[in-house]
Amino acid sequence: MIIDGKKEAAILREEIKNEIANLKKKTNKVPGLTVILIGEFAPSQIYVRNKEKNSKEVGINSNVIKYPSDVSEEEVLNKIEELNKDKNISGILVQLPLPDQINKEKVINAIDPLKDVDGFNPVNVGNLASGYKAIVPCTPLGCLLLIKKVEKNLSGKHAVIIGRSNLNGKPMAQLLLKENCTVTIVHSKTKNLQNECLKADILVAAVGVPNLVKKDWVKNDAVVIDVGINKVDNKIIGDVNFEEIKDKVRAVTPVPGGVGPMTIACLLSNTLECFKAR
Ligand code: NAP
Repeated sequence: MIIDGKKEAAILREEIKNEIANLKKKTNKVPGLTVILIGEFAPSQIYVRNKEKNSKEVGINSNVIKYPSDVSEEEVLNKIEELNKDKNISGILVQLPLPDQINKEKVINAIDPLKDVDGFNPVNVGNLASGYKAIVPCTPLGCLLLIKKVEKNLSGKHAVIIGRSNLNGKPMAQLLLKENCTVTIVHSKTKNLQNECLKADILVAAVGVPNLVKKDWVKNDAVVIDVGINKVDNKIIGDVNFEEIKDKVRAVTPVPGGVGPMTIACLLSNTLECFKAR
């Protein structure tokens, strides 16, 4: 089975759109999302444009604040402070990566945890790790929703996650642990990666190495989620050798058209949740 992330994201966006329309009828208010974009980094420009377009389509009041790449850290922090206080803003997102003069940690810490739609603020990271209510980073949240489309009951399943980044691997592990999976995280220093992957009922690859996961790395009944986005010969491919494994495993996400669309849909969902919580 090929998990159609585009289709699932469209379903989720439709649900969000309907809920926002209903809330608007009741309260005459809609969620507001502000994205801060610094510099001219081409992929960031594309991501932000997509986020803005998708937000508007579901009825989120979205706007982008753009700064040149030499903007000072103080100016960005002051803007975040202003947005934190603004009652019309439900969510704040600072598009990464940031230029060298701006400290990523300071920026992430400055965002009000209740408006932290990326789920990167340590308050949300800590809440997720403690099993409390938290805003969850969009990509792992999207992965979990896709996994659940195939496997409703994850309890007791062995999940293996390749990658231990704050963005993907670690929150993915927390989410799967919360679902009562037995979780193994593997990374660049792991010995015998293939053996670890072969234990996986659920395999999530969030690495950034094209075609790392091969046919003889996966069980027949595995559910494989490919987070990787790698540009090879002008084509986007994942961390999983899709062609090799697609007829072997129980389910797999393609790249593109798998996790990517769910990431943006989950950003919209997080923005809506922040709006409702306030
Ligand atoms: P990252 O911060 O670079 O982390 C990569 C992780 O992979 C690290 O933990 C690293 O181990 C591990 N790793 C690297 N090479 C390895 C190898 N040969 N064997 C085993 N583990 C290895 O990357 P990230 O931000 O998590 O992103 C991962 C991928 O997801 C990238 O391709 C990125 O573009 C993509 N991505 C996709 C989406 C989406 O919406 N689909 C969103 C975000 C990111 P160490 O910790 O030991 O260095």
